[in-house]
Amino acid sequence: MPTENLNTAKILIVDDESPNVRLLERMLEISGFTDVRGITDSRQALPTFLEYAPDIVLIDLNMPHLSGFEVMQQLKTAVSPEEYLPILVLTADVSIATRRRALAGGAKDFVSKPIDHTEVVLRIKNLVETRFLHLGMQRQNSDLEVQVRERTAKLETALAELRATQDHIVKQERLRALGLMAGGIAHDFNNALTMMLGYGELLLPWLQKHGAAREQAYLDHIISAAQDATHVVSRLREFYRPAENHEIRISVNLNEVVTQAVSLTAPKWKGKCLADGIQIDIQTNLLEIPNIAANAAELREVFTNLIFNAVDAMPTGGTITINTAPMGDGVALTVTDTGTGMTESERKRCLEPFFTTKGERGTGLGLAVVYGIIQRHTGTIEIASERGLGTTFAIHFPSTTATAQIAGPPHDWSRRPLRILIVDDQEIICELISEHLTADGHTTAAAKDGHEALELFAKSPFDLVLTDQSMPGMNGIQLSNAIKASVPGTPVVLLTGFGDELLNHATSENPLDVDLVLCKPVSQADLRRAIYQATEKVHPLASVA
Ligand code: ADP
Ligand code: MG
Repeated sequence: MPTENLNTAKILIVDDESPNVRLLERMLEISGFTDVRGITDSRQALPTFLEYAPDIVLIDLNMPHLSGFEVMQQLKTAVSPEEYLPILVLTADVSIATRRRALAGGAKDFVSKPIDHTEVVLRIKNLVETRFLHLGMQRQNSDLEVQVRERTAKLETALAELRATQDHIVKQERLRALGLMAGGIAHDFNNALTMMLGYGELLLPWLQKHGAAREQAYLDHIISAAQDATHVVSRLREFYRPAENHEIRISVNLNEVVTQAVSLTAPKWKGKCLADGIQIDIQTNLLEIPNIAANAAELREVFTNLIFNAVDAMPTGGTITINTAPMGDGVALTVTDTGTGMTESERKRCLEPFFTTKGERGTGLGLAVVYGIIQRHTGTIEIASERGLGTTFAIHFPSTTATAQIAGPPHDWSRRPLRILIVDDQEIICELISEHLTADGHTTAAAKDGHEALELFAKSPFDLVLTDQSMPGMNGIQLSNAIKASVPGTPVVLLTGFGDELLNHATSENPLDVDLVLCKPVSQADLRRAIYQATEKVHPLASVA
């Protein structure tokens, strides 16, 4: 430590004899010390110490009123244990007993009277130097502490963010895995349902014609059960289906969608009020928001599901509040109820397909569908819930650009006859589709796999190809690519139960070059629309001919 720093040390002298004080002051001044204060009344030692805050105290031991020992005792109470305050005792009594007592009382060093000028200055410098080193260290320590605190805070924030991201990823992965599983189940069911509905529909007119009323009633039951099952499967599909490239999005005002959903669901919440004598109110606070590119029907489904759930959660009545507001370029929405709320584990799992706490009454598909729809609109959903207080679903849709709406087929369009090649490894599906198409006046040929299809195609090209995706040997996309390579512009419609699988198969060497993807089971109307859209896309004028 440089000496000029030592010279600025504040020195307090306590000695009842004024000449001693003067002498010391003079001595220290000559040695370069610039800040010295002396007092002769030892009772003033503590107040002066507190006010002056010296770096070192020089004390005489024998003083009237308060002895040096007593003054040291007082100072001890005023100095924190971490602080190093040097006390230098000036005494004529240098007996061992006195020294011990002084050291025990807090003294750091001694100078015997009469004082030797050089000695006292050297001792003071030593002690002050030690004090200054101490202070420096303390400053460094507290700087370090601040740094450590700041770093700890940063680490804690990073850790919290990491945890949140991890939770989010785990949730997403879980839902993705469930989606894949649901997709697999939906695929198998679709094939079975395709058969039931397809052949059922074909059989119905025959029964009607032959007046077999009882059989017709049986068949009606079979068909309506299969239709119900199709509904469940298609709901499941809504959950796991990834967004398709050519998904139709139009410019939608979410406020209108909310208003429609509120009135569409009115029978349920108003009806419940009347039936159970309870009161359910819906309040909407709809601010001016930008339009977003969306599928309006899907979004209506989001809000009707959320409203239905809210009503279910308020068996004794309550209020549903729906807010919309602009957020960034997009829109933020909240649906809040004053219902039963969810436990933390229910909250975490409620988006999963088939998760329900409603037993027989619930399907557990509502929120899974909501989640799927929001995902496909690249939105996000957050759920906050408190048991006994209620639940808030907070949804955010980013702004996106609308794609044009594709027009449906003109009325008489289906009458235009086409030569259509049907490719499916299940012969029975080929037959079924063929039945539908020939009923519409088209001519068909069937192939059981890609190779056979290509052979048929080589003999004479077709106007359109309808192919299954999952087939042994060559899949639908590979077949489509081969056909488009041989006769460019041939429309290809892909039939699939696996939305996900498509994406996996579409690689850079194997792009997804089909004109339309249709999901099984397909109805006659689906087929008509698909054929119209695929040919329209490839030969825009052909279909109007
Ligand atoms: P379902 O309504 O058929 O049970 P959902 O997927 O719509 O299926 O909801 C799943 C579960 O999430 C419900 O069974 C319920 O436990 C919980 N849930 C959904 N919405 C709410 C809500 N607004 N308040 C409390 N719990 C809810
Ligand atoms: Mg529900």
